[in-house]
Amino acid sequence: MNRVLVPLQLDGTVPVLGARKHTLCGETMGTTWRVLCATSQACPVEVLRVAIQEELDLVVAQMSTWLPGSDLDRFNRAPAGTWHALPEPFAGVLEAAVWMADVSGGAFNPAAGALVNLWGFGPSPRYTDPGFKVPTEAAVQTALAHTDWRALRWDADLRQACQPGGVWLDFSAIAKGHAVDRVSRRLTDMGVRNTLVEVGGELRGQGFGLAGQPWWVDLESPPAAQGAHALLPTRVALHGLCVATSGDYRRAFTHGGAHWPHTIDPRQGRPVDHGLASVSVLHEECLWADAWSTTLTVLGQEEGMALAAEHRIAALFVQRECDGSLRETLTPAMEELTG
Ligand code: AMP
Ligand code: MG
Repeated sequence: MNRVLVPLQLDGTVPVLGARKHTLCGETMGTTWRVLCATSQACPVEVLRVAIQEELDLVVAQMSTWLPGSDLDRFNRAPAGTWHALPEPFAGVLEAAVWMADVSGGAFNPAAGALVNLWGFGPSPRYTDPGFKVPTEAAVQTALAHTDWRALRWDADLRQACQPGGVWLDFSAIAKGHAVDRVSRRLTDMGVRNTLVEVGGELRGQGFGLAGQPWWVDLESPPAAQGAHALLPTRVALHGLCVATSGDYRRAFTHGGAHWPHTIDPRQGRPVDHGLASVSVLHEECLWADAWSTTLTVLGQEEGMALAAEHRIAALFVQRECDGSLRETLTPAMEELTG
C-alpha cells in the first residue's frame, strides 16, 4: 500500500467549482520550472508567465554562482575587507542560510563554495570535464580555510556584509526553494490562489487542484539496486505545504570505486559518504524544506534524525543497506502527517 501524507491544517482556501487546470513551464537555474493553476475564470496565462519569470530571474540575478555579475558573484570576487550593500531578498536568504549553518554546526554551509567548486560541482572545472581529477588532500585543506561562515560580518541596520577574503558563497542548496516561495506568493498576490509551483523537483502547493482535491504529489524516491525491492510510493497532499528532496543519485560521479555526490560535508571538506540515498522534507516554506533536506543529507541518518526531531521537522530518510535494499525512516513530525 502507498503511504499517504496529509497536512494537519487547511490553508484557508476553498475548492473552486468547475475549475480548469492551466499549465505553464519554462527554464531557470539550469533546470526546469512548472506551474499548475486551477481556476474557473479565464486565466491570463501570458501575464502569469511574465510574472513567474520575473521572480525567477530576480533570484538568479542576485543569488546565482553561475551567472557572472550576479550580486553573489560580485561579493565572491570582491577584495578582502570590503563591505557590500546586499539587496533583498539576497540579504534575507543569507540570514536564513547562516541560521541553518549555526544550528547544524556547519553541516549546512553557505560559505562552502570553494569546496563545491573544488569537487567539480560549481561552474568550473566540472566533474564531467575530460581529465577532471579528484582533489588532493592539500587542495581540500586550502579550500577548507575559506569556508568559515562565521567570518562573514553582517551589519543588519545597513544591510551590508563584509567579504573576509576568499569566501565563496554558494546558495544552490537554498535559493531554489526560495524561488518556489516567491513564485507562489506572487501568484497569490495576483489573485491566483490554487497553484502548484515546481522548480527542479522542489514544490509548493497552495489551495486545491481539480474536483475539490488537493494537489497530490509523489515523493521522489531513489532507484533501488538491481534485484532489490523498490520503495512503495509516498503520496503527499501539498495543501499549504512544500517538499524538497536531496539525494546522492543525482549529479554525482564515480572514481576509483568511490561514489561522490554533489552534497558536500563542509566539516570534512569532501562529498558525503554515509549511505543515505535521499532525504525529503515537508515544510510550509520551500526555502526551509530546501535548506533542511540538504542539511539532513549531510548529517546522515542518526545525527539528522536527532536534529530534525529537535526542530520538529517533517523528514523522510532513505538509507541504502549493504544488500542494496532501501530502508525508510520518518521523523515524528512526518509520522504525524500519516494520519
Ligand atoms: P541541494 O540539491 O538542495 O541539496 O543543493 C546541493 C547544492 O548545494 C550543491 O550542488 C552545491 O552547490 C551546494 N552545496 C553542497 N553541499 C552543501 C552544504 N553542505 N551546504 C550548503 N550548500 C551545499
Ligand atoms: Mg537544498
